[in-house]
Formats: sequence, C-alpha cells, structure tokens
Amino acid sequence: MTSGIRFDGVSVAYGGTVVLDSLDLTVEPGEVMALLGPSGSGKTTALRAVAGFVRPASGRVFIGGRDVTGLPPYRRGIGMVVQSYALFPHMRVEDNVAFGPRAQKAPRSEIPGRVAEALELTDMAGYARRYPRELSGGQQQRVAIARALAVRPGVLLLDEPLSALDAQLRSGMLAELARLHRELPDVSVLYVTHDQVEALTLADRIAVMDRARLRDCGTPEELYRRPRTEFTASFVGNANLLPVTAGTDTVTFAGRELKVPAGGSAARGAAATLCVRPHLVGLGDGPNALRGTLAEVQWRGATHRLYVDVAGHRLMADVRELRDPPPPGAEVVLHFAPDDAVLLPAGAGPEAGVRAEVAAHG
Ligand code: ADP
Repeated sequence: MTSGIRFDGVSVAYGGTVVLDSLDLTVEPGEVMALLGPSGSGKTTALRAVAGFVRPASGRVFIGGRDVTGLPPYRRGIGMVVQSYALFPHMRVEDNVAFGPRAQKAPRSEIPGRVAEALELTDMAGYARRYPRELSGGQQQRVAIARALAVRPGVLLLDEPLSALDAQLRSGMLAELARLHRELPDVSVLYVTHDQVEALTLADRIAVMDRARLRDCGTPEELYRRPRTEFTASFVGNANLLPVTAGTDTVTFAGRELKVPAGGSAARGAAATLCVRPHLVGLGDGPNALRGTLAEVQWRGATHRLYVDVAGHRLMADVRELRDPPPPGAEVVLHFAPDDAVLLPAGAGPEAGVRAEVAAHG
C-alpha cells in the first residue's frame, strides 16, 4: 500500500454546524503527524474523514495520491486504533487480528503469517489463544494495534490510543509506538491527541487545531521556538504572553521599553503579544529587566518555577540551580534575552480564555 495523506479543503458539518472548516493538510509518506487541540476542536472528525466514516460536505481526501473521498473504509488501505480498543470480546486474539485481512479478502494461506507478524511487532506473540477479557488494558491496546497492522496499511490512524491507560503504561506505550514506527518506516501515521507530551514525543510535525480550524503546523521545535499564534504558544509548552505595544525593534510593556528581535511584522503602535518561554526567563539583572513581586515558588526537581507579579501580570520563570529561592513577597528582577522573545499578533476573543486556562494549570 502506498502512503501519504492529503486533505484538500475538507469541511464537515453536523446539522448545519461546521465542525471541520476547509482543512488543507498533507502528511508525507512515512511521516507521523499529530493532530493536537482541545476537546471538540475537530481532530477526530478529520481522522474519521480519512477513514471514511464521515463524508465531507466539501473537499477531497487523498491516500497515497489516490482520491478516496467516495470509497468505503475497507477499500482505503488504512489501519485504525481508537481509544476504547473495540476488540471483539467473543473472539480470541488471533481471530481479532485476522479480522481485517479476512474482511479484505486476503488469500487464506496468507492470513496466519500476517497474524503472526502483527503479534510479533506488538510483542504479543504469546497471547494468540487468549480472549480479550484475559488481557490487561495495555495488552488489549497492543492487540488493537496488531489488528490495525495486519491489513498492512499504508496509513495508520490513531485516535487518542493511549488515553485509557494509566500514566506509567502510557509512557511505555509511547516508546513502543516510536519503535513500531521505526520498524514500519513507510507507514504514514495520523495521531489524534489533546496531550502535548504525546504530540511532542511522537510526531515529526504537529497540526494544531482549534474550533474546527487548523491554526498552525510545524515540527515540534518550530512550534515551540517560533509559534505563529498565541494559541499555539500556550498549547505547545508553557508561555508567558505579555500584552505589548509594538515599536521598532522594541515593544512597550506596562510602561517599560523592551528589546525584541528585529524584523517583526507588527506595525508600529499596534497591539501585540510578546511570547517568552518560562525557561528562557532568568532571575536577576540582565537585558529586558522587569522588577516584580514574587508570588509563589514551586519546586519541580531540576528547576524552580517562580511566579512573579509585574505590573499586574503574572510571569513564570523556570530557574535552574537555585539554592535558596527568595521568599514569597520578595522584590525580584527577571530578565530575558531579546532573541528569546517572539512577537505575535494580539489574540482576541475566546483564545484568551484558553490561554488563561492553560496558565492556570501551569
Ligand atoms: P475532537 O476530536 O477535537 O475532540 P470532534 O471531531 O470529535 O472533536 O468533534 C468536533 C465537534 O463535532 C464537536 O463539537 C462534537 O460535538 C461534534 N460532533 C462530532 N461527532 C458528531 C456527530 N456524529 N453528530 C453531531 N455532532 C458531532
């Protein structure tokens, strides 16, 4: 099966409400693309449009260069894994895994080999004769993945595949999925998640979704270092987002002038948002110094997270190797290098609410 996925202006509506709005997105052959966004942003709908379980109101879906928009799911060459596993409870593991190739009408003689191969890939070879109820949650998830792989898909669709697992199993399965992809380097993966750690760990690129639309797309590093919207800045990693007025290579924040990288796109005098990552904010005097009052200190192992109130705005600084943090209420000075700041268009409307929520969760 050839791989690669292309959404070409794909829109989906339920009862007149648009839940996916003109999605244009390409997943290259062999690439892992995460669809990251809050609940209800349209991620699963996009995935189901690739699988063939929802019909777009407009636009086309391509798999391996072939227009599959009108094809039924079983003719699209996809494997799919959903959150609830959806194993058949009355079938042994081997029959669950054989289900796909049988439905595909693969030659009978090929099926045992395909089942063995898929169970081998997922480290479940010893469990072929068991029933799903005789397996742990993590093992059931492996069988669900084996079942998806047994059709030898060009495209693997994963919908929150780890969200039913506890935290420890989840990190083990993340490593497993990464290994699996190394063994199947030609398979394109579309991975739906609301968990930025999963997206940052697994994905070659992340497509950030919010309210039915694609907001940003790039490698994890690009999105982290150079987010293009406030939404991305706050959804991929933590961010200090300062309301500023743009100048020329400077901005004004709460009456103070701060230096920012040259060549920003904001017009002089325009409202904008300055994004500075907490780990790039230092304690003590330096460039772009800001004086404030320490509100709270959280110890986080390798760092201390300092919350500092500066002119009515609460800033976060993740400081390494701080032996004796100052007490809450102390006057402190924070600073950041001009090149570590990113100037963004001022966010408006509901995105500001999302930002506040993310900030509240640290
Ligand atoms: P996400 O995966 O990002 O959580 P979904 O794609 O599942 O979001 O849903 C996007 C929006 O579409 C939500 O508001 C959801 O309630 C709505 N929706 C999803 N499936 C249906 C359906 N079958 N009928 C009506 N509305 C739906």
